[in-house]
Amino acid sequence: MQTVWVLGDQLNRSIGALAGADPADARILLIESEGMLSGRPFHRQRLHLVVTAMRRFADELTSAGFDVDYRRSPSLAAGLDAHRREHRPYRVVATEPNSRRVDQLLRDLDVELVRSNQFLCHRDEFAAWAGGRSRLRLEDFYREQRRRLGYLMDGDEPAGGRWNFDRDNREPPPRDGRPWPEPPRSRLDDLDREVLEQLPTGLPGAEPVGWWATSRRAALARLRHFIEEVLPGFGPHEDAMLTDNWHLAHSMLSPYLNLGLLLPVEVCDAVEEAYRAGRVPINSAEGFIRQVIGWREFVWGIYWLWPEQRDANVLAHERELPPGFHGPARSGMRCLQTTLDAIEERGWVHHIQRLMILANFANLYGAAPASLLDWMRERFVDAADWVMVPNVIGMGLWADGGLMATKPYVSGGAYVNRMSDYCNGCRFRPSSRSGEDACPFTVLYWDFLDRHRDLLSTNHRLARQYGTLDRLGDLDELRQAATGIIDACGSGDL
Ligand SMILES: Cc1cc2nc3c(=O)[nH]c(=O)nc-3n(C[C@H](O)[C@H](O)[C@H](O)COP(=O)(O)OP(=O)(O)OC[C@H]3O[C@@H](n4cnc5c(N)ncnc54)[C@H](O)[C@@H]3O)c2cc1C
Ligand code: SF4
Repeated sequence: MQTVWVLGDQLNRSIGALAGADPADARILLIESEGMLSGRPFHRQRLHLVVTAMRRFADELTSAGFDVDYRRSPSLAAGLDAHRREHRPYRVVATEPNSRRVDQLLRDLDVELVRSNQFLCHRDEFAAWAGGRSRLRLEDFYREQRRRLGYLMDGDEPAGGRWNFDRDNREPPPRDGRPWPEPPRSRLDDLDREVLEQLPTGLPGAEPVGWWATSRRAALARLRHFIEEVLPGFGPHEDAMLTDNWHLAHSMLSPYLNLGLLLPVEVCDAVEEAYRAGRVPINSAEGFIRQVIGWREFVWGIYWLWPEQRDANVLAHERELPPGFHGPARSGMRCLQTTLDAIEERGWVHHIQRLMILANFANLYGAAPASLLDWMRERFVDAADWVMVPNVIGMGLWADGGLMATKPYVSGGAYVNRMSDYCNGCRFRPSSRSGEDACPFTVLYWDFLDRHRDLLSTNHRLARQYGTLDRLGDLDELRQAATGIIDACGSGDL
């Protein structure tokens, strides 16, 4: 018999090597690597989600008639070795892995790799698209994907007459106190409890209470809920941040897409169908489709195209993240602490909190790119190497010097105040740059521009900001205030 090795982020019958597998000729191998699970202080809910989903998938395959060898081993290599000794397969096949490290490992272990269909644009296709272009722009890639895949197209024209409805989707938080659809929760069962008992002790993160679905069936139910209840409101307030509402109209489908419990094609098909049936407006449908066939596939392609991006650090930032990121020190910065609390509770916050609170703060503070990358990989339920490297190093920190973004995504308190309700009730004032109530985001923002003048002042997209900086009459005081803030953050006192 041959062996089909299913990796923990490829949990779907339709993916690669498993797609054509027949129980009469193929035994399934799944390996829980103890080294991978206990190697870092992963969020409890992340480990619970990944391990439970793997075990449920193994049960599903057993029910479908497969002989499944489910192993817990010190490492993937040790698990494969033990499997080979026990079952003597005539060959071991797997789908191309989603991370560089595992891809290399499987090649070293003589595993035959089947081309992956887990993404809509294979990494070779992305490389072909990128070849010869001087600059890779998301918008160009996205339009190509729309044409190629046919989503939201009326013949050769984009549905609704525009490729991009982004400008309709940047509204500040609604002030009308509207109710947002509550996300469904799963009931924990015996398997959930068994997995939780086996997890290492002392992990960060609250106990799971069912926010994250751990089977394909439950993930499909989450997709249906999103399409029916949430998608019509997706879009206009995508960038808003509210203290009393952690999800707004975000889909929260990333963990399922990243583990293979859902495939991008079925998610996009469902959105297209809802749009064609008149159940969702074009700006919501387009906004969501752009995230999945545009951004998601774009960062996937970039991950494979630019291996050097991972270690980039053009801003030469070397600090460790402040102690508040690792608890229990608490910050008086309401935006930051609310976001850290949300991660502790669920292992998830939405895109703008990741980009404009966490990464923005880390950049202004001067955190080493690797320290934010490692921390985010540990803390997010949807973390994966391929998605984190471009998003953290490229988008979030501009550590690659602008391969993905023309200027760093940094801002002071004014942006946070416009897009959230965090500043009401914060002990700092977003517009203040001196004195007791000086907002750390605002002070560090101007200090960041000042510190990186050599590298950034010639960037025409920052010309207005440098013009303002040059007119500030209190630059020396601001530099001193920034040093005080950085010291206080570093010792957990802010
Ligand atoms: C610093 C930083 C770190 C991030 N880390 C991760 C991560 O570990 N895992 C992860 O899946 N996404 C990550 N993202 C991208 C994005 O923030 C999340 O995919 C999104 O917030 C997940 O929530 P959602 O499913 O409700 O997304 P929605 O807002 O509902 O968007 C729909 C889907 O689009 C996809 N998507 C949207 N933007 C991106 C993007 N920039 N990159 C890749 N996919 C995207 C996701 O699959 C998401 O489920 C990160 C972004 C930043 C700026
Ligand atoms: S005032 Fe500054 S620190 Fe406080 S919530 Fe607003 S941006 Fe954050």
